[in-house]
Amino acid sequence: MLSVHNLVKVYPGPVTALRGVGLDVPTGMFGLLGPNGAGKSTLMKILAGTLEATSGSVTLDGEDILADPMRVRSQLGYLPQDFGFYPNLTGEQMLTYLLKLKGVQAPNGQKRLAAELLARVNLAFAAKRKLKGYSGGMRQRLGIAQAIAGDPRILIVDEPTAGLDPEERHRFYRLLAELARDRTVLLSTHIVEDVAVLCPRFVVIAAGSIVAVTTPEEARKNLEGKIFEGTGTDDDLVALRDRYRVTQAVLVEGENRVRIHVPSGRAPSGFSPVVASLEDAYMTVVGSGPGGAAAPNGDGRTLAGATPVRAAAGGES
Ligand code: ADP
Repeated sequence: MLSVHNLVKVYPGPVTALRGVGLDVPTGMFGLLGPNGAGKSTLMKILAGTLEATSGSVTLDGEDILADPMRVRSQLGYLPQDFGFYPNLTGEQMLTYLLKLKGVQAPNGQKRLAAELLARVNLAFAAKRKLKGYSGGMRQRLGIAQAIAGDPRILIVDEPTAGLDPEERHRFYRLLAELARDRTVLLSTHIVEDVAVLCPRFVVIAAGSIVAVTTPEEARKNLEGKIFEGTGTDDDLVALRDRYRVTQAVLVEGENRVRIHVPSGRAPSGFSPVVASLEDAYMTVVGSGPGGAAAPNGDGRTLAGATPVRAAAGGES
């Protein structure tokens, strides 16, 4: 089990990016969901050993991995958010180069290993193509190929689906789900759909703190009878934001279609109950409005009814 204990990161400035994060990551797919600037990449970089924490510890089966990152390096694969590619190399050349850089053992030769990895991520057909001709999804799959070299027990993927079109995203989901069958995959994302599709369990991170640990089903269930939908003018929307947490506001045929969170279950006139989505659950935590992360006293910063993280993570966060 990968465990994070009271992790703090303060960048020069100072900018406090992580404020005492505590977390247990089980085997399988585990999501880290949060808005931009929440601290996801900072946490992923520290776990992957590419950034030093200010304080706190990370253990893998009880062994401190921050104290000796090299010892556990072979057990960790990492796909960073800003993965760099050389556009004029072929997929095979780029991967072979990365494998050498990582010092991955290849008893049957680097070329053979590269071919096996490319096949694993369904890129064998593009091995000889230059990377400048790869789609976003193909590049991300190549990134996964280097991350899974050496068969690591833990795979850390930072915002891997950002910028992928829906078809590529779904292909990438399938690959991640397959990889999570026999290892831990820690997926950071700001896209609620990633978590809904992939993660039996996830945490929500906001402003450097973990604010909830839950499951998609639990998160939706806890909002039953509390999400309502209606339409209104721009002025109505302003008034609604003052009174309720607005979980969605979209223009449909020139009118605002608005979803609101009403903890009492007593909706304003003209609003009807709807089935809660995971997006509604997420917005009740990180959205602006009364009771959310933006509230001055921080009241309500738990995913409606989800396990408060203090209880789940041993009071560390
Ligand atoms: P996320 O991945 O959730 O978008 P980050 O971990 O990238 O969040 O950033 C968390 C906070 O730390 C943000 O306020 C960001 O501006 C700040 N930050 C990130 N990297 C640096 C850095 N190198 N120096 C100073 N501040 C940083």
